[in-house]
Amino acid sequence: MPAFWKNHALASEMDTALAAVRRAGLLCREVQAEIDPGALAKDDKSPVTVADFGSQAIICQALGEVFTSDPVIGEEDAAVLQEPDNAAMLERVVAHVGAHVAGSNAQRVCRWIDRGSAKEFSDRFWTLDPIDGTKGFLRGQQYAIALALIIDGQLELAVLGCPNLGPTLAGERGDGTILAAIRGCGTWQMPLVGEGQPVQVKVSTQSEASQIRFCESVEAAHSAHGDSARLAAKLDIGAEPARLDSQAKYAVVARGEAEAYLRLPRDNKYREKIWDHGAGVLCVTEAGGRVTDVPGTDLDFTLGYRLENNLGVVVSNGPQHESLLQAMAELGIGRFDD
Ligand code: AMP
Ligand code: MG
Repeated sequence: MPAFWKNHALASEMDTALAAVRRAGLLCREVQAEIDPGALAKDDKSPVTVADFGSQAIICQALGEVFTSDPVIGEEDAAVLQEPDNAAMLERVVAHVGAHVAGSNAQRVCRWIDRGSAKEFSDRFWTLDPIDGTKGFLRGQQYAIALALIIDGQLELAVLGCPNLGPTLAGERGDGTILAAIRGCGTWQMPLVGEGQPVQVKVSTQSEASQIRFCESVEAAHSAHGDSARLAAKLDIGAEPARLDSQAKYAVVARGEAEAYLRLPRDNKYREKIWDHGAGVLCVTEAGGRVTDVPGTDLDFTLGYRLENNLGVVVSNGPQHESLLQAMAELGIGRFDD
């Protein structure tokens, strides 16, 4: 297999991260395959909880074996899972993790999950969203396993597993997709399941504003749909937005199936989490695209688990970035009174 990273200083990190995300992706697919939509109570979120903890356990166990002193800023910790009321849930997590990692038991699984509970910035750390897009997971739609390595505040390596994303957004999900990037080495795509060859992906070269295809969150609570509609009208964009969950949106821009991903703030207060963006950002920038926040500032990964200095996120293929930022400024998007 032509592994683009084989001679890179971060080859061992990429080998480990890829194998771990792949395994976590298989666990997620296994948990999802067990969901019987008819039998699942409407508010029963237990499948995604099992997969979420299982995915974090698998990935943190793998990172902890090789990179013993690397902190992981992950979305989950095991406190809730250890409450007596959640014993059955813990048992399900251990059973799923045990199918992939020898020697799993309740105590170890909780310890692996808690390896991912760092919160503070450090010179070298990983950030992990074990299941990004939990609502997409429950709907059987898009979700992602997102892992990035940050050294001296810079994104250096990313692995973005998208188990329900096929070779094209519109087509069958097939074996799922992994995008992987090391800074300076481009972004590469391969199937999540099996031994498919990595293929380099690039952003779209489209530079006509009215031809922009953009994606955004399914959840109106996560991104101001009204503002993106105003922006589309201003730029004369004809295509309807593609709405999908998770950092799969970054994958779609990275491989040129959309020119932009807009995450427009609904208020002044919410701060984006680093695990919701780290992996996606590097996959897009290494594919030739650009990422800033809505005011046009670069995302700052040096401030702990939140992007404290940023408001919203704008992802583009590059040529469209300035016109998007300018049109948003003219519409007052991202400006709030308080
Ligand atoms: P998406 O799948 O794009 O809708 O994004 C899912 C992510 O949205 C979750 O991982 C949450 O961390 C994040 N999230 C939660 N609340 C908000 C909010 N108010 N604004 C933006 N993102 C949010
Ligand atoms: Mg998330």
